[in-house]
Amino acid sequence: MIIQLANTIEINQKRELITYLSSYGYTAREVKTNSNLYLVAQGQNPLDLRGIGNKSYVMDIHAINEKYPLVSASWKEQATKIPLGRYNTLGQNQCTIMAGPCTVENEAQIEEMALELCLNNIRTMRGGVFKPRSSPYSYQGLGLEGLKMFSQTAHRHNLLIVSEIMEQTQLEKMYPYVDIFQVGARNSQNFKLLQALGKTDKPVLLKRGISGSIDELLYSAEYIFSGGNEQIILCERGIRTFETSYRNTLDLNAIPILKQKSHLPVVVDPSHGVGIREHVPTLALSSIMAGADGLLVEIHKDPKEAISDGFQSLNFAEFRELVEKIKLTFQLKRTFE
Ligand code: PEP
Ligand code: MN
Repeated sequence: MIIQLANTIEINQKRELITYLSSYGYTAREVKTNSNLYLVAQGQNPLDLRGIGNKSYVMDIHAINEKYPLVSASWKEQATKIPLGRYNTLGQNQCTIMAGPCTVENEAQIEEMALELCLNNIRTMRGGVFKPRSSPYSYQGLGLEGLKMFSQTAHRHNLLIVSEIMEQTQLEKMYPYVDIFQVGARNSQNFKLLQALGKTDKPVLLKRGISGSIDELLYSAEYIFSGGNEQIILCERGIRTFETSYRNTLDLNAIPILKQKSHLPVVVDPSHGVGIREHVPTLALSSIMAGADGLLVEIHKDPKEAISDGFQSLNFAEFRELVEKIKLTFQLKRTFE
């Protein structure tokens, strides 16, 4: 059950409500986000809502008993919209493209990339500076100094940046520079990190775990929301299956299922989803038809020279072509609605 409270509720009123709920065997947890105050009550017994429904400090009650109540669509029917700067709102019937290198390499690269994004009217650049690599001997990223450069260069062009955070101890240091925190597949169930991100006021792009189920992804999102941050973007990036012909199996099913189960926006990362450059556009366009609110795409001026994930990065010409196709596909999709 989700009870939305007036932000002005007094301590004794809160106590009265919690005592009432516990008299029916319900536990209640308070969730305070940037904009709202909730009580998430969990219990099995039938509860007489008349006892609380008429209280002046109770704004709304939803008698749902979901596993992940705050992110579930059965509570909040309206899709969550996440403003990304002045130009884009994720989840508002548009396709938001975020693109950039897998890993930030140097300033000249980011400068050139920024110009390319602006040319295509893209407003958010992706790029990792803390890279989760399977091998400890692989390149680990430019770190905080690289992030500062990435942020300054992108911001000079009025671009937002999305960058991966790997542990909660990085949050404070990264905060001034990052616009959207990315939680990578390997950290999708790093609960300490998710709890810490619940305390921030910046959007979080949460990737599905490498072998993560839909339920696990939504539980992870619930960690962030219940920690106090409502701005969560779910990201399908492919899962590990028995198939070895491609890097991951992009689960297109996840898109309509996530949108049915949750009010949160869903973006797709076709680059890691298939892991093969020539198939990235097909999967990107299919994701739009399946209902994705946005795409996260890896690009590089010269993919064969990329420090990481060059084999799945589009060059600028391929990216331009994809952006044009995305516009057409999005229009086509809307004619079906
Ligand atoms: C990335 O976006 O470069 C990345 C490491 O992705 P994932 O966490 O999905 O593997
Ligand atoms: Mn990558």
